[in-house]
Amino acid sequence: MINIVIFGAPGAGKGTQATLLAEKYDFLHISTGDLLRQEVSLRTPIGLRAKAIMDRGDLVGDDIVVQLLHRALQQRSTHPDPDSQEDPWDVARKGHSRRPEGCIVDGFPRTVQQAQTLDFVVRRLKRTLDLIVAIDVPRDLLIQRIYERAAVSGRSDDTEEVIRHRLELYDRQTQPVLDYYRLSGRLTTVDGSGEISQTNSRICQVIDQMLAKEH
Ligand code: ADP
Repeated sequence: MINIVIFGAPGAGKGTQATLLAEKYDFLHISTGDLLRQEVSLRTPIGLRAKAIMDRGDLVGDDIVVQLLHRALQQRSTHPDPDSQEDPWDVARKGHSRRPEGCIVDGFPRTVQQAQTLDFVVRRLKRTLDLIVAIDVPRDLLIQRIYERAAVSGRSDDTEEVIRHRLELYDRQTQPVLDYYRLSGRLTTVDGSGEISQTNSRICQVIDQMLAKEH
């Protein structure tokens, strides 16, 4: 069982990479952004509280995000039936019994406080956080990618002003998380400026090395 965090600025491609990795390694994929957007679209009490905050590009409160993360980490496995057409999240929600071999988290942690909370939660679940992969992308390319995504995403937080604010928050609040992980020796940085498949191979190399060490 390995637990991985995929880390990067908005536009770095962490959601895309986490999805590809979850498929390849049959890991449970937890994206706090997706979990929040799901709450918003279902108009749950959490979604109603989170929507305005997300639309401004601000960070949703730890009480909410940690609750969603904790719930997701406790979920049971994806794919009990390989031929199943069901969405893994629906399968997970129904509580099938096989645990995934690993778990990949994207969108969390976004502050040093969240990083400390994640260490605490993982310890309490008797697991370890094995690897943090930071996807490194130069700022001008990040901005170009976010604008390209904005044209098709329909996301209410993909407007010019909100994007600028999200990047500012990233610099101020999220970037320091890298030092937190660097100090604990769990951080690997990969170049994310190329094609999706190139970044994916780089990350797979890191994961494969780690899996080889485990066996
Ligand atoms: P991006 O990669 O573009 O930053 P995400 O899908 O990861 O987008 O997040 C979208 C929004 O959801 C964030 O701008 C923030 O409002 C909220 N959010 C997601 N994860 C967290 C988190 N860990 N803490 C606080 N807010 C979060």
